[in-house]
Amino acid sequence: MTKNIMTKNEQLSKLNKKMSCCSKCTFRCGASKVVFGDGNPEAEIMFIGEAPGKKEGETGLPFMGSSGRILDKMLESIKLKREDIYITNICKCRLPENRDPLPEEIHECWPWLEKQIKIIDPKIIITLGRYALNCFLSEAKISEVHGQIINIHIKKIGTRKIFPLHHPAAARINRKTRAVFEEDFKKIPAILKNKKEH
Ligand code: URA
Repeated sequence: MTKNIMTKNEQLSKLNKKMSCCSKCTFRCGASKVVFGDGNPEAEIMFIGEAPGKKEGETGLPFMGSSGRILDKMLESIKLKREDIYITNICKCRLPENRDPLPEEIHECWPWLEKQIKIIDPKIIITLGRYALNCFLSEAKISEVHGQIINIHIKKIGTRKIFPLHHPAAARINRKTRAVFEEDFKKIPAILKNKKEH
C-alpha cells in the first residue's frame, strides 16, 4: 500500500486552515486577519517574532511594518530573501494596541507554533526579542544570551538549536541595540554553513 505523504507545504496549508478556525482567545473575532507565517516551508532557518501589528493584521503576513523593513534589510545584508526563510510569530493574531502578549495568550497560541516547528523542522530557530526567547528558555535574559547558539529541548519535538536575537523594534529605537543586532545577524551565514558541513 502506498503511503500518502504530504509535503511540508500541504501540511502547513492544512494547519493554517485549522488555525483560522481557532477560538481559544478573543482576538480571533477582530477585524484583523490571522497571521500564520510566511516564507519557504523547506527553509533551514525559522524566525519567530512576537505578534502581528496593524500592517500584519491587514495583510495577513508577518513583519510587514517598520520591524519588517529592518529585518528585510538585514536579510539582504547576508544575501537572504524572505523566500529563503520561514517567519512566524508566537501569537498569530494582533493584540489590542500592539501590547505585549500575556503569558496565557502565549500559552494558548503555543500549540500552533509547536506544530509549525514540527512541520518545517528548521536547522536553526532564530528568536526575535525576549518573548520569543522565553518561549523556549523561560528564565533566559536576551541581554545575556543574544548571538549565541543554544541547544534546547522542546517538549513533543526534541532537541533543537536556537539563536536568540534582539527584536528589530528594539534595534530601531536604540542605537546600541541596533549595533548588537547587526553584529549578531552577521553570524547567521557561518551558522548555516556549519550546519551544512555537519
Ligand atoms: N511584526 C510581526 O509580525 N511580529 C513582530 O514581532 C513585530 C512586527
